[in-house]
Amino acid sequence: MTEQVSAFLEKSIVCPVCSKESRQQKLKNRLCSSAEQESDQHVIRWNWTDPQYEGIKPQFYVLLHCPSCSYTDMIADYENPSGDIKFGGIKKLFESLKGPDKEFLKKLTPLIAVHPMTFESAMNAHLANIYIQELPQEKEYKNLVKLGRLYLRAAWLWRERAPQSKAVQASGVLADIERLTTETEKPLTNTEERIERLQTMLVRRVKSLNLSPDEEKSHPYQKVLGGLERSVGEIHQALGRLREFMQQDASGTLVSSAKGDSEYVGHPSYFEFLMAMTKYWPKLPLNERDCLKEAVRYFTEAYFTELNFDEVERVMTTNALIVDLHLRLEDYDSALQAIASVYKAGMDGKMTLQKSLREKKKDGKLSEKDEMQVESQISRIDYVLQKTAERRHEVKDSKVKSMMPRIQPILDENKGKAIEDIETILTDAGIPEDIVEVLEENGTLGGGQPNGKAKADTNTESSGKRGGLFGIFAKAG
Ligand SMILES: [Zn+2]
Repeated sequence: MTEQVSAFLEKSIVCPVCSKESRQQKLKNRLCSSAEQESDQHVIRWNWTDPQYEGIKPQFYVLLHCPSCSYTDMIADYENPSGDIKFGGIKKLFESLKGPDKEFLKKLTPLIAVHPMTFESAMNAHLANIYIQELPQEKEYKNLVKLGRLYLRAAWLWRERAPQSKAVQASGVLADIERLTTETEKPLTNTEERIERLQTMLVRRVKSLNLSPDEEKSHPYQKVLGGLERSVGEIHQALGRLREFMQQDASGTLVSSAKGDSEYVGHPSYFEFLMAMTKYWPKLPLNERDCLKEAVRYFTEAYFTELNFDEVERVMTTNALIVDLHLRLEDYDSALQAIASVYKAGMDGKMTLQKSLREKKKDGKLSEKDEMQVESQISRIDYVLQKTAERRHEVKDSKVKSMMPRIQPILDENKGKAIEDIETILTDAGIPEDIVEVLEENGTLGGGQPNGKAKADTNTESSGKRGGLFGIFAKAG
């Protein structure tokens, strides 16, 4: 313990909201650096300056919270709020929280303990920060990138706690339940987004009436908003509970009346504590998937409001992250959509540049230096377009692979039939047309020839990097 304590620095820090000073524990700077990362930037191995620190989880120590007023924020923003342009508005909303609206934070933040910092403590701190950042109802007052980062960090905490992000890897009924749960969640996400847009409009309408804050709060529209939010919340909670149970089921610990050593502040488990807290926050994220879904939603919103092809690296990194998060959610269509949006934005940007280049040339207004600058902008976009096209190929590949367990039995059953017939059978069985098209292109459907080669290829993970389903040799007609 004493060794570990020496990794920490105790410091008096003033709360950016209530101005009260409190003693805060911070992990000292430069004790560690990332040694290995997952595809969504989650560090899974650290290089420590001193091996005695190994075992400390740096992800736990990224937030500070005020014991007086419960305000919680990322360390840098807590210490220097002026760096965050949305801080003023959020502070106002935070200060006006009273009664039941403050209850969530009042219950949560006293459970954040630094020594020893546990998963639960760290998660509570993240949830408190997210709750505060979610206070603005209108998108333009929200800190989109920060919310994305916070949800992503919370997702990492869940993953570290239960490493297999997919609860059910098994086949059979459990796998079917998992698949159906995911399919149920997808349209729900769209519905939630639409309800949120509706909410923004209704709030805007109420605001335009120039009412007093109390009149605003009791306006009839607020009741509709509350009702919609509760209904969405109830489905969200039921699905969250289902995912928790599926995970327990898969690991063989799902029993009725389980009350073991996992008790948390009077609740049978930390999960049940969170379920109880949904009373104050109906859409409280309950697992890794919930967090990933919100992260990708906020990153996407932030991304397209500030897409700038002058910063190619940033465009590529953010897009790669967005695509990766969709893939983690097994949402291949959204991943492809994200790729298509960047591709289109790139094409549009390129056309605009080419047009202005032509016009300036015609008017004789173009210096050599300007021309070179535009040319280099265009080549940067070309780079993005090329990378995006490659990524699209890879995602399609993954999409087909993910569906092979459903496709293969159909193919086996219908061996020797004409391609057109097999195509119809596949589409009737619910296999999307773009997938059937890929299967046709790469020869998996046979085509009068013995379909040995192409099919064997789809079954072998190790058959070459770009071989597999997109192998150029697999064209069978
Ligand atoms: Zn405070």
